[in-house]
Amino acid sequence: MTTTPLNRSLEPLGVSIPSKVPTHWYNLAADLPEPVPPHLHPGTREPLGPEDLAPLFPMSLIMQEVATERYIEIPETVREIYGMWRPSPLVRAHRLERALGTPARIYYKYEGVSPVGSHKPNTAVAQAYYNALEGTTKLTTETGAGQWGASLSFAGALLGLEVEVWQVRSSFDSKPYRRIQMEAYGGICHPSPSDLTEAGRALLKSHPGTSGSLGMAISEAVEVAAQDPNTHYSLGSVLNHVMLHQTVIGQEAMVQLEEAGDAVPDIVFGCAGGGSNLAGLTFPFLGRNLREGTKTRLVACEPSACPSLTEGEYRYDFGDVAGLTPLLKMHTLGKDFVPPAIHAGGLRYHGMSPMVSHAVNLGLMDAIAVGQDEALQAGLVFARAEGIIPAPESTHAVAGAIAHARNATEPEVIVIGLSGNGQLDLPAYSQYV
Ligand SMILES: *Cc1c(COP(=O)(O)O)cnc(C)c1O
Repeated sequence: MTTTPLNRSLEPLGVSIPSKVPTHWYNLAADLPEPVPPHLHPGTREPLGPEDLAPLFPMSLIMQEVATERYIEIPETVREIYGMWRPSPLVRAHRLERALGTPARIYYKYEGVSPVGSHKPNTAVAQAYYNALEGTTKLTTETGAGQWGASLSFAGALLGLEVEVWQVRSSFDSKPYRRIQMEAYGGICHPSPSDLTEAGRALLKSHPGTSGSLGMAISEAVEVAAQDPNTHYSLGSVLNHVMLHQTVIGQEAMVQLEEAGDAVPDIVFGCAGGGSNLAGLTFPFLGRNLREGTKTRLVACEPSACPSLTEGEYRYDFGDVAGLTPLLKMHTLGKDFVPPAIHAGGLRYHGMSPMVSHAVNLGLMDAIAVGQDEALQAGLVFARAEGIIPAPESTHAVAGAIAHARNATEPEVIVIGLSGNGQLDLPAYSQYV
């Protein structure tokens, strides 16, 4: 592949990076008692080879998808960009503890300090970097509420890539600020289904007036990437390499908790859509449980309107509606499941990360479903105690933690993954209030 002038922005600047920004990503595959089931070729149902994924992803990410070594070095250029907002804060929620009257010590790890307001740039920057390094000039992707599209547009702007996004129709209509955010970073955003792709045109015909879904938008973005050798596709969650990139969250949290004197928390709550912020926070703790016998309990909190872990089947399924993606072994509600248009758009996905699904299936992680009203109510309790208005997605983790803390009788240590802030999701709260 040719290198383009854009790639000159890939050189590190040589700026100093805060020492708590991890130097490596942590790969849970190294510590699992049984390997994660491989992704399968949809035609042959044989495990995918690297060449099968090459039309969509750069080779470095394909290798990370199947990597088994425990630590993978983070490129200096990526660490420098992480250093713009990382390490993210780990905060003791004293006022929430007092409001709940709980003896528990509650901490939250806050990813809302990133430029787009969520954890997603942790992988967007890494994916844009490896793509640019291998000569990709454009990335396509899908987005739900818009955080992923905004994150990839941000990463594309910093690393010199064009970004084209298909956004789930219901969010495109109800959350215009995310589209404006994408456009401010130079990204292009279409509502999905669109009439720009074959998959989109077929869906508009079979599902007239549909509110769209992530599975539909993935079909459109994959189709466009597969047709152009200089265009690759980028996924914001679900895949193993995305879980890997997010582990900066949990590695930082472990160091920060140790400094706070609570090195081994009793329980960690994360919200789960495709599983990436949850995996990013919990996998380093899970690895330590497996290697050292610590007993930190890990809880995935999903919306009861889209309950893939608690009610889905664990089997091979497609990641998209049209059946263009590899088959992934995961907890799934079925590729044709169209979730209701809940406020937590980032949690509206029919499947779940194969690594998270595997961990839940092995009993290494628990899962609960939280209703939308309970989640938003918890978001308000949190906002009125701690000041931060959580993203509607994050409120599911907050709700899980609050319910647990209310029942606590001991000074146990609870960690909440606060995956983002709700500054651009305020309509969700106004409808609830
Ligand atoms: C996208 C998003 C999620 C859901 O995605 P995961 O891959 O499950 O983390 C959760 N919280 C926020 C703030 C998001 O933007």
